[in-house]
Amino acid sequence: MNKIAQIFDSLEYGPAPEGPQPALDWLESHGQAFGHYIDGKWTKPGDTFASENPASGKILAQVSKGTQADVDAAVKAARGAFKGWSGLSGYERGRYLYAIARAVQKHSRLFAVLESLDNGKPIRESRDIDIPLVARHFYHHAGWAQHLNRTFPDHVPYGVCGQIIPWNFPLLMLSWKIAPALAAGNTIILKPAEFTSLTALLFAEICDRIGLPKGVVNIVTGEGETGQAIVEHDGIDKIAFTGSTEVGKAIRAATAGTGKGLSLELGGKSPYLVFEDADIDSAIEGLVDAIWFNQGQVCCAGSRLLVQESIEERFIAKLKKRMATLRVGDPLDKSVDIGALVAQIQVTRVKDLLKAGASEGAVIYEPDMDVPGQGCFLKPTLVTNVSPANSLVSEEIFGPVLVAMSFRTPEEAVALANNTKYGLAATIWSENINLALDIAPKIKAGVVWINGTNNFDAAVGFGGYKESGFGREGGREGLAAYLKPAWEKALKAAPTTKATSAKSGNPLDATQLDQTAKMYIGGKQARPDSGYDRQVIGASGQLVGEVGEGNRKDIRNAVEAARGALSWATTAAHVRAQILYFLAENLDYRRDEFADRLKAQTGKDGAREVAAAVERLFAFAGWADKYDGAIHNPPQRTVAAAMVEPIGVMGIVAPDEMPLLGAIALLAPALAMGNPAVLVPSQTAPLSMTDFYQVIETSDVPKGVINIVTGDSVTLAKTLAEHDGVDALWFMGSAEASTMVEKASTGNLKQTWTSRGLAYDLADQHLFEGDYLLARATQIKNVWIPYGA
Ligand code: NDP
Repeated sequence: MNKIAQIFDSLEYGPAPEGPQPALDWLESHGQAFGHYIDGKWTKPGDTFASENPASGKILAQVSKGTQADVDAAVKAARGAFKGWSGLSGYERGRYLYAIARAVQKHSRLFAVLESLDNGKPIRESRDIDIPLVARHFYHHAGWAQHLNRTFPDHVPYGVCGQIIPWNFPLLMLSWKIAPALAAGNTIILKPAEFTSLTALLFAEICDRIGLPKGVVNIVTGEGETGQAIVEHDGIDKIAFTGSTEVGKAIRAATAGTGKGLSLELGGKSPYLVFEDADIDSAIEGLVDAIWFNQGQVCCAGSRLLVQESIEERFIAKLKKRMATLRVGDPLDKSVDIGALVAQIQVTRVKDLLKAGASEGAVIYEPDMDVPGQGCFLKPTLVTNVSPANSLVSEEIFGPVLVAMSFRTPEEAVALANNTKYGLAATIWSENINLALDIAPKIKAGVVWINGTNNFDAAVGFGGYKESGFGREGGREGLAAYLKPAWEKALKAAPTTKATSAKSGNPLDATQLDQTAKMYIGGKQARPDSGYDRQVIGASGQLVGEVGEGNRKDIRNAVEAARGALSWATTAAHVRAQILYFLAENLDYRRDEFADRLKAQTGKDGAREVAAAVERLFAFAGWADKYDGAIHNPPQRTVAAAMVEPIGVMGIVAPDEMPLLGAIALLAPALAMGNPAVLVPSQTAPLSMTDFYQVIETSDVPKGVINIVTGDSVTLAKTLAEHDGVDALWFMGSAEASTMVEKASTGNLKQTWTSRGLAYDLADQHLFEGDYLLARATQIKNVWIPYGA
């Protein structure tokens, strides 16, 4: 048989190599050694490390380790450039972004080849996915720069942003960070990952060539220590980080109390749900993209297959057949599906995890196929026979490993899907759109793809729930993460108020009243666990009442009650509005009583505060069914529904001042958006909120939706911050206590909003009756829904 006949017979692919030479020439033009790009100039290479091609082990170039002095110089350059850059008109900034997009597009092949050489990803992906999306990001954000002031009136850029990115999508992650930051008027110091600095350096040269003003973008290469120097630098106003949850938590702790903006895009263990009515062949192809795209080194990889039991056997058999046809090999071969992992250490890590999983009972399957003998290659791998407790099910593997489990009912599918500390993405396959759209909101993840997977677009926000981080990249939300309201930047320190509390001494002297206001937990009044009371001393030093001294157990009970009330999130917004109106009305009926109580505690005329609290409840009742999402139209034949969802259980520590309005101003937006809450009212004047129990009880509030624990604000805030059942925490108090709250929130990466001792005036209707707190009480989930027959 001649060769052509043989090829027709076997249908084997021939080699289709992409030439590496232009990328090697570019490296050669820099003498294969790079310094940093700071203030529009290249520094001389310093202490360097090698950047290797993981497919061959060959060294591509030497890259410099950024020192503290390099980071200082970059921050100085960025600070120096800030005034000029943020002072340009949106149109002028947009033109620069547009020029970057054009240049990336013009040199897209060079970028793609360099990316595949440095990272090991197949050229098919870098050429057709990574680099086109990079250009798309810069085009999209060029437009945002121009429309910024119209869309975000009275907002200003943060200033100097430190950005730290991982190695799995080196240039794409760079563009997700740099494009919105520049559009918003910030200047930048970006550190690429140590394994993959080269396309960031090529990007720096592009910035240079298009004449971007010096100091606007600074690229400092290096290892974790360089990243840490950026995180800890006093001259940086915002940190944007993409990487592992472990490092994300360290960054949360390091930035606590600094007032730096923070967005974290972290790891995932995303479920891939296949229902029995799915188009199985499409679901298999989707799965190939979900888990073997970029060798599985994808934060949102569909790494946990959950397939309905009735089709499990057939599905797994087809999947194994498909796995055997995947081609593992030279990333620069255009018909290769799976390239090299980024480094040997990653290969070892994946193998070790597989070994550990197998020892826990997992069955490991790899197809019989050829892989190159040299380089960081692994076969596509399927893991079965696992329980939810197996480490391969719970841990992010970040390699070409799919873990399969089955489910019987949609309820079980949701429970398994959500049984993870992460919440980045999910995929649902079903031909029944009603079922798919029922499941999508029930999954705790920032992105849900229906009958498709791993779709990304600059106009659609991306980011996680739970320990997958907070903040979004892309779309309007992504841009908002690089802006601040101008008034917030101008806040002054709050005057320090002296907490009036009971004198120490004989505890029997303290109990002068027969009645102590109790806690309010799970719809009932509850005695404090501690058995101790706390005196409430009026403005002129008189005893006006006693409340319980709440402790850790009271908070635990309140959080448990609030978690039992999470269905508040799915209560129709109209119904939530009605309940808030009812609260307002019932408070209004008792306005004189509340005004008197306020006067007794604070010495001030309480009538205005009661009226303002009633108005605030009305305001957020009005918002409940209006602060909603958007429909995006990404270039794919898909709509992306950006759904506004509550965060979950919210802890709220109200300010000491304005005992009624201070608490209502925070409680109302949280409730309006569907979050059950645990409220710690003013520690010095808590009686207004203990009186409020009766208003709650007459207003149809479902039990567990509002829980109130009185006591010492800072002690209770610490317990709330450390509690993994609390999803978000708002704290009004001193700078020192705010730092404590932010640090203590690291355990489950809860979202925090703290006043940091600044004079937030919650009475200001202009600032606090709008979307400022609504945005902080919600997170956006993007549900991608394809169309077309
Ligand atoms: P790491 O968290 O280890 O590193 C990410 C970046 O942070 C790198 O540039 C790294 O530098 C740097 N870094 C490391 N230590 C510190 C520190 N203490 N302070 C500041 N910066 C530091 O993650 P990987 O690079 O290993 O990337 C894989 C992880 O990233 C996975 O868990 C994956 O899920 C996640 N990821 C998340 C994405 C998302 O959008 N949610 C997207 C892509 C990845 P260096 O590499 O030089 O050590």
